Amino acid sequence: MKFQVLVIAIWVLVCFGSVSARFFPNITDIPPWIKNNATSKAPWDAFNKFAGCRPGEKREGLSQLKQYFNHFGYIPNSPSNFSEDFDDELEKALKTYQQNFNLNVSGQLDDQTLQQIVRPRCGNADVINGTSSMNSGRSSSFHTTGHLHTTAHFSFFPGTPRWPSNRQDLTYSFLPANGLTDEVKAVFTSAFQKWSTVTPLTFTQADSYSSADITIGFYTGDHGDGEPFDGVLGTLAHAFSPTSGRLHLDGDENWVVSGDVTKASVSTAVDLESVAVHEIGHLLGLGHSSVEDAIMYPSITSRTRKVELADDDIQGIQLLYGSNPNYNGSTTSNTQERESSGGVPRYLGPRWGLSLFLAVGFGSFFL
Ligand SMILES: [Zn+2]
Ligand SMILES: [Zn+2]
Repeated sequence: MKFQVLVIAIWVLVCFGSVSARFFPNITDIPPWIKNNATSKAPWDAFNKFAGCRPGEKREGLSQLKQYFNHFGYIPNSPSNFSEDFDDELEKALKTYQQNFNLNVSGQLDDQTLQQIVRPRCGNADVINGTSSMNSGRSSSFHTTGHLHTTAHFSFFPGTPRWPSNRQDLTYSFLPANGLTDEVKAVFTSAFQKWSTVTPLTFTQADSYSSADITIGFYTGDHGDGEPFDGVLGTLAHAFSPTSGRLHLDGDENWVVSGDVTKASVSTAVDLESVAVHEIGHLLGLGHSSVEDAIMYPSITSRTRKVELADDDIQGIQLLYGSNPNYNGSTTSNTQERESSGGVPRYLGPRWGLSLFLAVGFGSFFL
């Protein structure tokens, strides 16, 4: 029996060490398999070939673009497969999409629209049950003076689900199989703090995964909830509305855990905390916002860091939960903190399966 416990303990240690093997103290040490990923095509890059494609045209692959719009709620489920035609349905979807992302509402596949479409983003839909929630129908006031106005554009899930008043001290836990290091867990602690600063909610890490209110896990590909991840870039993460508490992140991304992500040499580097703050917003009941500075804006460019709540996010979350009694109306930024302590970005690289082998091969080299 003691032997079995010992074997399990060693196995846990190996797993724990395996994730550590994917933290790189110096980006010049990134092994070739990660650099190869960096040059591989992101899942939506193929859509760039539709530049200038007009309504009425038929182009091979347009059905995939329709599937993209279907996934994010802009086209309802088709009774049969989507056609390759640039039909009215696609034009209508494009117009709603352009409105949501503050683009010129042309219904055309212009360059700016395509650039936005291929950008990495959250896997949650922008339009739920056929109702566009992102822009709250107030987009007409955009661009009238040459800048974006500051009207609130936060949104909620249909039915406005929220954590009830007797469940506001929430616990969170990490998928044990990921064997995350304390360094990675601390990123989430910091992300939760952004939301607890402005609301009465509190978040405490719990050891028990099964009984935690919020569960966080990295998964690759199909992971059983009908929302498969798609490899490097494309969808980065998704989270469920209250009170599900499930937060899933794409384990194939090149997650940057600390350091200045904007200086990352790998073009596919994604800032973990930026994505975590966004997904926690979903866990608490916020939908997507059309305000580009808002945390709840659906997309984020790689090598970008955005972790501070915007007024739009704060207004939305405080409508659900009220304010933190200690909140003085300012989320004093300590964005410099990480930059000054960081330096070279550290990665939580992809390929969970490879980690076991890398633990042995790279463990002593990178740690
Ligand atoms: Zn989202
Ligand atoms: Zn999932």
